[in-house]
Amino acid sequence: MQVPLIRLQCGVNSYDWGKVGKASAAARFAAASETDDFSIEEEKPYAELWMGTHPKMPSKDMKTQRSLVDLVQDNHALMSTEITSKYGGKLPFLFKVLSIEKVLSIQAHPNKKLAEQLHAKDPKNYPDDNHKPEMTIAITPFEGLCGFRPLPEIAHFLQSIPPLRRLVGEDKAKSFEEVASEAKDDGAGKKALREAFTSLMNGAADSLASASKELVALAESQGSQFAGGGGSSNEGQELADLVTRLNGEFPGDIGLFVLFFLNFVKLEPGEAMFLQADDIHAYISGDIIECMASSDNVVRAGFTPKFKDVSTLTSMLTYSYGSIEEQKMEPAPYAHVVLNAKAYSSNSSATLYDPPIEEFSVIKTELKKSEAKATFDPIAGPSIIICTSGEGTVSVGPKQETVKPGYVFFVGATAECVIESTGEDPLIAFQAFCELGSKSQL
Ligand SMILES: [Zn+2]
Repeated sequence: MQVPLIRLQCGVNSYDWGKVGKASAAARFAAASETDDFSIEEEKPYAELWMGTHPKMPSKDMKTQRSLVDLVQDNHALMSTEITSKYGGKLPFLFKVLSIEKVLSIQAHPNKKLAEQLHAKDPKNYPDDNHKPEMTIAITPFEGLCGFRPLPEIAHFLQSIPPLRRLVGEDKAKSFEEVASEAKDDGAGKKALREAFTSLMNGAADSLASASKELVALAESQGSQFAGGGGSSNEGQELADLVTRLNGEFPGDIGLFVLFFLNFVKLEPGEAMFLQADDIHAYISGDIIECMASSDNVVRAGFTPKFKDVSTLTSMLTYSYGSIEEQKMEPAPYAHVVLNAKAYSSNSSATLYDPPIEEFSVIKTELKKSEAKATFDPIAGPSIIICTSGEGTVSVGPKQETVKPGYVFFVGATAECVIESTGEDPLIAFQAFCELGSKSQL
């Protein structure tokens, strides 16, 4: 029988928000698959490395060049029969590395029901009938816009940024402020937010052009006093810089105004956040590990040359609001692993990022010294492992493979997997997996 440890060759796509040439971690990792037909072009943007069975860019067995989809469909034990039948013979998750140079579109991902409707109506723009909750773990410092700000903060910006108030409209701005100042009732808060945001998104194109010119001029002239000195944390200068920078990437875009409705989030390497279906977000910069339910459905409304669907976006959102701390995840030590003494003495760790959905969880393993070793208990479902730095080995039973940055492996269900560091630099690996029935929340 084949040992369920398969080195994968993974494709990278070239959306124009990606980091350029070798600066892109996604490109460097794709190049690590060492095939002759891929070399990094110096001036080309590389955005996303895809690891999984999604039909748009399925990974392959590097040795045989067989598609991972075929492999798991031929041998149901690789994913477990339960997962194979529940997810139609495909991996439940899609695992990615994103390298972001320019802001990605303002977007949300539909829930299951809406995904089915959109896909039936418009399969070209909505290629999947599946939902797409997603989790982001920073591997370099990350910036993004995620979720709606607390209402008083948005009210503060409506008062301190005249062109923003104009686009929203005086009536809507006023009634929003009334609710924001007293909103104890979540329903009223969401309704007011929906009305103000929808009004902004439907603002006429000609008023957007003049409003954005005015906004950029304010950002350039007011510095730290911009936006009334900022929101809750005196971020006036930071917001001024952000408006100037994003206007350079998408001149006059509605996104320049949307950013005053959304939390501006920064993640340090290892920090993570989880986005439910229908949560609004726009990633701005950084390299990240992303894991999502296997789907490619995106509803976009700004910062993009692609298809925009403003009415779907404004009607699908949950309009939950609150501080970003509520969206950040709290990773915990992963319990089902044994670290050897050498690993313990060097502060090595295995950390679990566990979102409240069934399709995936991610473990980050960091082995800080040569010979530090992590032995994982068998997992009852499939895993994909990518190394992002350091050197070492990965083994399942008698089979051992070298590990370097960008090396990706599929590990079959119930295999006992061992990762060992052999270099002087810390070995860091991320492992996405699915195990049915293991989550108490479900
Ligand atoms: Zn997204």
